[in-house]
Amino acid sequence: MQLFRNLGSALLDLLLPPRCHICRTVIDRSGALHICNDCYSRLPFISSPVCSICGVPFSGVGNDHPCGSCLTDPPHYSAARAALAYEGSCRDLIHAFKYSGRSHLRRPLGLLTAQQLAFYAAQCAPDILLPVPLHKKRLRMRGFNQAVLLGEVLSSAWHIPLLRQALIRTRWTTPQVELDRNNRLHNLKGAFSVTNPAAIAGKRVLLVDDVVTTGSTLRECAGTLLKAGAADVFAVSVAHAP
Ligand SMILES: [Zn+2]
Ligand SMILES: [Zn+2]
Repeated sequence: MQLFRNLGSALLDLLLPPRCHICRTVIDRSGALHICNDCYSRLPFISSPVCSICGVPFSGVGNDHPCGSCLTDPPHYSAARAALAYEGSCRDLIHAFKYSGRSHLRRPLGLLTAQQLAFYAAQCAPDILLPVPLHKKRLRMRGFNQAVLLGEVLSSAWHIPLLRQALIRTRWTTPQVELDRNNRLHNLKGAFSVTNPAAIAGKRVLLVDDVVTTGSTLRECAGTLLKAGAADVFAVSVAHAP
């Protein structure tokens, strides 16, 4: 069976040579990522120092430490990390994934995140992965929840179950990008709800999202989950916006 599968994929590579998701040049070995070495080396991976709580990257060198806003206003979650900075080819990939219907890009984006944040995820030791939900109106407009698609890739890479419906968005909210920081938090108050508290109670939860901007969505989700009885909440996202 494995032999046939290998033959099948070799034949497919011959007929439809795999191309790099970023620069579209033909790559000789398809691998799992489908990103050429050049493009891979230019990906804006986030590395230390970062805020030890929200994961915002700091410039320069040094150890991880809490940022000013996490010290003055600590979030409900214990830690959040993103794999990449939301810039350059990472931004292009996420744009194509979310707005151009190229939902297959979940795979390279999810795998990059799974590789880069494997150690972090192991430290969080979550019982379940929970995608940040979309309101059903937004879901109808887009046709899919990007956090669910990414969560599926992370779930199979990390062998952690993904709960798709345990947390829902009950209130329609103004897109966060159109608001300043204060209004963002206020905008989301009471926007989420837990449909199945028994699935959350006592669990270590790892929230999954595509892009984190101010982190107010993760803060609000974490507050809702803790109120519903979660033991601890962490978060992971593909990219951190500047
Ligand atoms: Zn490339
Ligand atoms: Zn912080």
